[in-house]
Amino acid sequence: MSADSTRRRFIEIMPFAGVALLAACSPKVEPPPAVVDTPPPPPVAMPDPTPAPAQEPAPATAGTMPLVEETETQAVALGYVADHTRADTVKFKSYVAGNQCSNCALYLGKSGDTEGPCPLFPGKHVAAVGWCNSWVKKA
Ligand code: SF4
Repeated sequence: MSADSTRRRFIEIMPFAGVALLAACSPKVEPPPAVVDTPPPPPVAMPDPTPAPAQEPAPATAGTMPLVEETETQAVALGYVADHTRADTVKFKSYVAGNQCSNCALYLGKSGDTEGPCPLFPGKHVAAVGWCNSWVKKA
């Protein structure tokens, strides 16, 4: 091999040698961490957006105790009537139109109930629209 061909060979390989030298002298770059292929989370159960059918709420106290009968001794004595508009105004002069169990201080039913307890008739309910001679104005 002549000196001329050696020089020509050197010129031919010089660009590749330079690239190899640059690569060897460059700082090492760490490869990004391998992405771990995790399984997707299980689907979340969504609540049913369909509203439940509306139900008519029962009065809180209705039906839990028997109603007072107008013929009971205590009811007769107090002039109790299940409908205040039927109050005996001849015998019970204290009746005032509009007075009824639901606006009596002794009535223990809740607002909107059709009946409720009264301490004058233990163990029974009086009608919210009832009345007796012991009616007391609510404070
Ligand atoms: S005391 Fe009042 S709640 Fe009781 S029966 Fe008479 S009016 Fe009704």
